[in-house]
Amino acid sequence: MGFFDLFKKKKDVKPEVENVTITPEVAEKQAEEERKEVEEERKELEAGLEKTKEGFFGKLKRAIAGRTTVDADVLDDLEEVLITSDVGVDTTVKIIERIEARVARDKYLNTEELQYILRDEIAQLMEESHRSTEDFGIEVKEGMPYVLMVVGVNGAGKTTTIGKLAAQLTKAGRKVYIGAADTFRAAAIDQLAVWADRAGATMIRQEMGSDPASVAYDTLRSAVANGADVVLIDTAGRLHNKVGLMKELTKIRNVMSKVIPDAPHEVMLVLDGSTGQNAFEQAKQFTEATQVTSLTITKLDGTAKGGVVIGISDKFHIPVRYIGIGEGIDQLKMFDRKEFVRAMFGDAKN
Ligand code: GDP
Ligand code: GDP
Ligand code: MG
Repeated sequence: MGFFDLFKKKKDVKPEVENVTITPEVAEKQAEEERKEVEEERKELEAGLEKTKEGFFGKLKRAIAGRTTVDADVLDDLEEVLITSDVGVDTTVKIIERIEARVARDKYLNTEELQYILRDEIAQLMEESHRSTEDFGIEVKEGMPYVLMVVGVNGAGKTTTIGKLAAQLTKAGRKVYIGAADTFRAAAIDQLAVWADRAGATMIRQEMGSDPASVAYDTLRSAVANGADVVLIDTAGRLHNKVGLMKELTKIRNVMSKVIPDAPHEVMLVLDGSTGQNAFEQAKQFTEATQVTSLTITKLDGTAKGGVVIGISDKFHIPVRYIGIGEGIDQLKMFDRKEFVRAMFGDAKN
């Protein structure tokens, strides 16, 4: 069983529906509902990325104002637009090189076409860096909980992301256990308790200051004993020294594997997208300190720095699993690179 099955299995089994004859009218109605859902998701995503989009296209418009063909000057300006949109230097260079190659083939590329060209190249780049809507090849033994440990600096959005995720999972019919392994501040445990409560998940806690590994151990024991489907482990966000962080995270991992040998199945790094270049730095530090298997990038709603998603997924080759586009319980979206590019650059031209 993999991660995406967690959202499918129990939710999609609706016994009361099975006996209903699917007439063309019923089928049409269902299709209509699905279309509406997709449409709503798209609108939410577009709203969440609005500031990034406005910032980017504002700059792009100014850069190409009065010019008709994509020449070296336009490319220079485009490079600056991408860098100042937090795409990151390395990824920007890659994108520019790709566009240069196209310009070399077609010398009279119109600046009006630039948006579509950019769209294609960025979509292609993201396709190469990861396929986030596929399962990660992580298989969990039937009957064992899927264990996801969440890491990241203070304030990145770990606790909020766990709360939102727990809500989605319980909604899909899953039994969710949450471990309050951020024992650094009492407020952190209480904040997580509020989320667990809203989500209808069970939280395992100890006193403030207790050993995070011990909390993780208790959580897994309890989850296994009670037949939980998923375990989400919150952790403290200190990054004052990498050695200390590594030791603590390693200890938590080791203790968990005593209960479930292949746990944690996933280590998710949460990054605050609104910090732009700082998010790159954090990704670097954490991936050096511990094995990170997925990313969540939060707070894309309040920022024009959403370009980090493109740069980080290209640079670290770690799939972006989720993006946060608001503080609300529903405002965590499974990251779909196609929908992301679509929300940023519009539909493909043909
Ligand atoms: P932690 O220290 O990593 O556990 O971070 P928290 O989960 O406590 O989040 C820190 C702050 O960021 C809180 O005020 C959250 O409401 C806020 N936050 C988290 N995710 C998002 C998001 O996607 N959008 C916005 N606007 N705020 C968010
Ligand atoms: P430490 O470095 O001596 O604290 O120990 P470990 O790294 O082995 O484990 C950290 C914490 O996890 C311990 O303080 C225990 O609370 C818990 N733990 C680890 N292994 C076990 C175990 O086999 N049984 C129980 N009850 N708790 C364990
Ligand atoms: Mg927290």
